[in-house]
Amino acid sequence: MKELIDLHAHSTASDGSYAPAEVVRLAKEGGLTAIALTDHDTIDGIPEAMAAGDKWGVEVIPGVEISAHFPGGSMHVLGYFIDYTNGLLDERLAVLKQARLDRNPQIIAKLNALGIPLTMEQVVKVSGGGQVGRPHIARALWEAGYVSNIQDAFDKFLRSGAPAHVNKFRFPPREAINMIREAGGVPVLSHPFTLGLGSAYALKNTLLELKGLGLAGIEVFYSEHSREQEALYLKLARELGLLVTGGSDFHGLNKPEVVFGKMRSQGKVIYQLAETLKAWREKNINHR
Ligand SMILES: [Zn+2]
Ligand SMILES: [Zn+2]
Repeated sequence: MKELIDLHAHSTASDGSYAPAEVVRLAKEGGLTAIALTDHDTIDGIPEAMAAGDKWGVEVIPGVEISAHFPGGSMHVLGYFIDYTNGLLDERLAVLKQARLDRNPQIIAKLNALGIPLTMEQVVKVSGGGQVGRPHIARALWEAGYVSNIQDAFDKFLRSGAPAHVNKFRFPPREAINMIREAGGVPVLSHPFTLGLGSAYALKNTLLELKGLGLAGIEVFYSEHSREQEALYLKLARELGLLVTGGSDFHGLNKPEVVFGKMRSQGKVIYQLAETLKAWREKNINHR
C-alpha cells in the first residue's frame, strides 16, 4: 500500500498555527493516513492529537522535535513513538521551558546594565500576551526609541555576539538522543542541511558520530530538500544503516508555503517508513 503520511508537523503546542486536533483533521482532509505530531521541545499537544486521531481515523504517532547544541548550525532531533504518559520526557523538557522563561529577564538585565531602562512589562505589552521572545524585545526597544528599526535592535543588542545577547540553553546531541530513547522513542535527525556542514564528507562523519550516540535515522524527505539533497541523504542513510523518514514540517499559517504531506522534490512519504520505525523500536527499545 502506498498510503501517504507525514512524519513532521507542529501545532499550537509549539509554533504551529493550528491546535493539535485541527492538525489531525487537516491531515484527514489532505488524504493522509498517518501523521506524527512533533512539536518543538514539548509533548503537551499529544493527548489532544491522539483523541482526534481516533475520531478522524488518522493514525497519530506521538512525537517531539528537540533542539540540540550544534555550533555553526542548528540541530533538531525528532523522536517517534514517544511514551508520552510516563512523565520522564516531560521532566527533562521542563528544563528547556524554564530556560526559555529565564532568558528574557536576563536579556533585559543586560540592557539595563548598558544604560537602557527597558522593563519586562514593556516587552510583555508588545507581545500581546503570547509567548515572549527576542522579536518582542526588539519591538519594545524600537517603540521606546532606542533603535531605528527592528533589525537595528538585533544588530546593536540582541544578535549572537552583541552586548545584550544571552545564549539559548540547548541539550548536547547525546542528551537529546538519550532523552528520546529513554522515553521509548526512535531518534531521527531532522532536515540535515540545517547543520550547516559544507560537504557530504563532513555530514557523513557527523552522522557516524550521531549513530554512535544512538541516532536511528535521518529525515530524507522534507518540504525544503532539493532532489539532490534527498538523493544524498538517501545514499548516506543506506551506507550508514540509518532509517529513512520524511515530513513536511507543517506549521499551518505560520509557514504558509509548506503544504501538509508535500515535498519540494515530489518525493513521497509512504506508510512503509512508519513501519520501519516501528520495527526498529521493537528491536532496540526495552519496553517496560
Ligand atoms: Zn526542525
Ligand atoms: Zn519541525
